[in-house]
Amino acid sequence: MDVFKIPLTLKMEPRKTIRAQLVGEECIVQFPAAWAKRKKHLATMIDRVYWHLMAQNDIENLRKRVNQLNQIYFGFDYQDVHYHRQFGRWGSCSTLRNINLSHRLIGAPEQIRDYVILHELAHLKQFNHGKEFWALVNRTGYQPKMVRKEIALYGQKWQNEYYQWCRRILNVV
Ligand SMILES: [Zn+2]
Repeated sequence: MDVFKIPLTLKMEPRKTIRAQLVGEECIVQFPAAWAKRKKHLATMIDRVYWHLMAQNDIENLRKRVNQLNQIYFGFDYQDVHYHRQFGRWGSCSTLRNINLSHRLIGAPEQIRDYVILHELAHLKQFNHGKEFWALVNRTGYQPKMVRKEIALYGQKWQNEYYQWCRRILNVV
């Protein structure tokens, strides 16, 4: 599913909160009638609920993949896996042993997402980017230098598509 191409239907309703749902291949957003004239606010809120929904929709997939990769390469203990709304970073690993991935990785090419997952899993053992850390990453067969280039390109592409997506939202509200 291409996260930027999902048809969006907006429904103004007598309600207090905004809600987004996937119905088949379509995203339905129900929003409070009181927001109809606050277009910028509405667009911002659609942006929030939409990406929250995309994350929800993909989280089980992500959890499964993290578990698989961890079993194949590491076997470390971790708490949980989440998508976060993050534009600056691709992933993080918290001291509470949670693996967090940027919402920009929803629907990303598998090898890019896998690399970020493996990178964060390796941080469960090594919190810095020292020699031991890279030894763990190398175990996976990925070549960080190459992947970093791919990630940078993917990031630019994502940013462009997101920009267009935001404009589309502003046009429909
Ligand atoms: Zn790192």
